[in-house]
Amino acid sequence: MVVLGSGGPGADGRAGAAYVVLMDGEPRILVDAGPGSLVRLGEAHLDIKHLDTVLLTHLHADHAAELPGIVKARAVSARTDIDFRVFGPAGAQAEGDAAARFPSTSGYVELLFGKTGAFSYLADFAGTVHFTSEDLFAPGSAGRKGEPRVIQRIGGLVISAVAGHHRDAPAVIYRVDYQGKSITFSGDIDPQGHAALRRIAKGTDLLVFNAVVLDPPDAPPALYTLHTAPGDIGRIADAVGVRAVLLSHLSTSVDRSRERVSRSIGAHYPGKLQFAEDGMRIEP
Ligand SMILES: [Zn+2]
Repeated sequence: MVVLGSGGPGADGRAGAAYVVLMDGEPRILVDAGPGSLVRLGEAHLDIKHLDTVLLTHLHADHAAELPGIVKARAVSARTDIDFRVFGPAGAQAEGDAAARFPSTSGYVELLFGKTGAFSYLADFAGTVHFTSEDLFAPGSAGRKGEPRVIQRIGGLVISAVAGHHRDAPAVIYRVDYQGKSITFSGDIDPQGHAALRRIAKGTDLLVFNAVVLDPPDAPPALYTLHTAPGDIGRIADAVGVRAVLLSHLSTSVDRSRERVSRSIGAHYPGKLQFAEDGMRIEP
C-alpha cells in the first residue's frame, strides 16, 4: 500500500486522506481521494493504468474532492476505455429537511461525470470513461445491521465492507484481502462505529486508523462525536488482534503529541504502531 494522503482537512502540508493498494506490484485500488493526492500519486511514480476500483469511505471533501483530477489522470494514462467501479456510502438527508445533506455515491459520481455533470466532457476525452457506482448500506438495507459483506471478488482479491459511523455522514469501513494479507481502513469513525469495525477488522494484518483527536478532555467535545480517541484505538487494535496499526488522517494536535498518543494506544495494544506520512509504502 502507498499512502497518498495522511492528513486531515487542514492545510498543513499533508494531502487529504488517500491510499493506493497494489496487487502483485500493480496499483489497483484507490481508497479515498483527498485533496492533494494527485500530486502524491505522481511523486510515487505509480503506473495507474489498471487503477479502476475506488472505495470512498464517506463524502466529506477531505476524502472525496480529488476524484475528478485522479479520474482524468487515469484517463490520460492509457487512453483506453475505462470502466471505473466506485463504491461508497448511500446518501442522507438532513433531519427535517427534504434536501440531501450528503448525496449518494452514485449521485456524487453523476454530479461530477454524468451527462449534466460538471466534468461530463471526460466521458469520451481519452477513450470512453464509464462508471459503475454502488451505494452501500442504504437505510433499512441488511448491511446496515453491521454485518460485513463482500462487495467485490476478483481472482484472489476480496473486498469487504461494513457500515461505519461518522456522526451524520454515511460512512463505510473497508477491508481488502489478497493472498493471505489484509488491510482494513477505518475511515473517519466515532464510537458508534466501533462494533462494526471490530467485526470487519478481526485478525487483519494492517489496520489504518484515522487519528484526529487526543484522549478526553483534550479535544473540543464535538469532535468525540466524529472521531475515535487514542485509548479506544488501542483497545480495538488489541481486541481484534491486528498485526500492525497505521495512524493516518493525522490532525496537527495528534501529530504534535505523538509520544502521548503512542503511550495511550500502547497501554492497551502492544503491537506495531506507525504514524503515516505522505508517500509512505507499507507491505502488510
Ligand atoms: Zn476526514
